[in-house]
Amino acid sequence: MSAFIPQLDPDRSTRESDLAATRGHYVYNHTYLSPLAMVECLPFWEQPSWQWMVTVGETALRVLANHAENDHDLRRRNDTHAKHSLFTEFVERASGEVHHLTHIIKEAIRSNVVEGPPHTLESYAAMFRSIGLPPIHHDFHQDRVFAEMRVGGPNPVVLRRVDRPVDHFPVTQEHFARAIPGPDTLEAAGREGRLYLLDYRMLEGIENSDYPDIQKYVYAPLCLLVLHRSRKVLMPVAIQCRQAPGPDNPIFTPDDGPSWQIAKTVVKVADGNHHEAVTHLGRTHLFVEPFVIATRRQLAANHPLHILLVPHFEGTLSINNMAKGYLVDNRGPVDELLGGTIESTRHLTVRGVQEYPFDRVMLPDTFRARGVDDPDLLPNYPYRDDALLFWGAIHRWVSGYLELYYHSDADVRADTELAAWFDELVAADGGRVVGIGRSGPTCTREYLADAATLIIFTASVQHAAVNFPQYDLMSYVPNMPLACYAPAPTSKHATHADYLAMLPPLNHANLQMGLGALLGTIRYTTLGEYGEGRFEDPRVAEPLRRFLDEIRQIGETIEARNRQRRPYEFLVPSGIPQSINI
Ligand code: MN
Repeated sequence: MSAFIPQLDPDRSTRESDLAATRGHYVYNHTYLSPLAMVECLPFWEQPSWQWMVTVGETALRVLANHAENDHDLRRRNDTHAKHSLFTEFVERASGEVHHLTHIIKEAIRSNVVEGPPHTLESYAAMFRSIGLPPIHHDFHQDRVFAEMRVGGPNPVVLRRVDRPVDHFPVTQEHFARAIPGPDTLEAAGREGRLYLLDYRMLEGIENSDYPDIQKYVYAPLCLLVLHRSRKVLMPVAIQCRQAPGPDNPIFTPDDGPSWQIAKTVVKVADGNHHEAVTHLGRTHLFVEPFVIATRRQLAANHPLHILLVPHFEGTLSINNMAKGYLVDNRGPVDELLGGTIESTRHLTVRGVQEYPFDRVMLPDTFRARGVDDPDLLPNYPYRDDALLFWGAIHRWVSGYLELYYHSDADVRADTELAAWFDELVAADGGRVVGIGRSGPTCTREYLADAATLIIFTASVQHAAVNFPQYDLMSYVPNMPLACYAPAPTSKHATHADYLAMLPPLNHANLQMGLGALLGTIRYTTLGEYGEGRFEDPRVAEPLRRFLDEIRQIGETIEARNRQRRPYEFLVPSGIPQSINI
């Protein structure tokens, strides 16, 4: 199909009748995750492809095999009957009427064949069988690794540079000196741009959950970090577990023994909740959904922007539908694992989307806004450095592509479908996207290129950066637990047993492992591989070839960087899917 902007299409009547027909299949719903926009009902062609189902099925079976091995051992140990004879039960049911994929997936995620509270940290490693144990278990407890997780971990978007700690987090020189022995001072670190803050105040007000029959906790902690003056590595300095300072809310430092491990756990839990609810589900999966709907409804199938975007939307409505109906449903896995009640977690997700204004979240701007854009000040920031390479490459590809069809800003403004697309994206009865500052009559080629870059980048690179750590960094639970199982400490006398009591019981850890191994390893499609015949217009070949060239070069750069730094593998190009489909 040849690509035309509407004003140049020789057959406008077919174009308009096709578009009108498509609209009936994509209806907005604003109540599923109120007030966000989702699709009312999935058209059948939005169902996953066979190839996707095979990939997911294979992974689900591998996770199940892991459970089966644990189940086998558990039954051998308790020579009476095991509480849950998973494997037999599964095989019986699979031969029955319920052997469809959804069942396998749910079974893989949910099967609890590991029991009881943890006795030692080793218990968390021992549950990995056919699922490989990720290397993070070796050194997750080190302070250096804790800091690294905030710049190269699952949620590398919270850290910001500060001149001094905020008023309600009264870290003193005395605290600083305990954390960083030597001549460095808090004042000098602030003055030299080496002081960083993690502030999880967005989590304040989350209601602690007691589902399923166990009390969980999540806090809104503060953590101060410093770039070590001579070693040039980021190190944690101090943690306050709740926002308001006071005698029951002490400031912990690395010399506080088990209390410090617990304080770090409070931060990890906050980071994990922010990651899943806000950064991952909210700001990739749900952020993209209205663009899928509006593109289908307002841009004809031969509109050049439609042709460009649709490969980056494959599987998104379907996986979001599964998230809504299962993962974040009442009594679903998120309800079980995260610290807050499922209502407050869903509310956090909604806020995450609404407080993410489109025009202000262009990737380079997000680093500037947090004061972390300067590599001279913050040399090691793997997510920033790798993601920016893709941002540039996608921007050049999108600009080169769009210039084939829009020769001037006037061409953009004369595109009636594009105007309707923008209008619908922000409309109260449409996409409800926040912060799109331009509309049809004020749009420019440059703005359109920025917008398309943000959409494609979010659907591919950003989602990969926050989705795939779910296996490598989150399936081994002590590195990123999703709830505290004891209250935050109010004094500094905790023991190692108190630390273990803070961590998830093994059946919850098993669920988090299964979920991480499933969601964090399924890679379907590859960034830049649009497939034969996607672009019939021969002029597209040249900008596309340059894009693919750039992706290959980025891969080489990342490989070289990974030899010089702690490897950051999530943005290796071959592992970045085209779209959010898991
Ligand atoms: Mn995902």
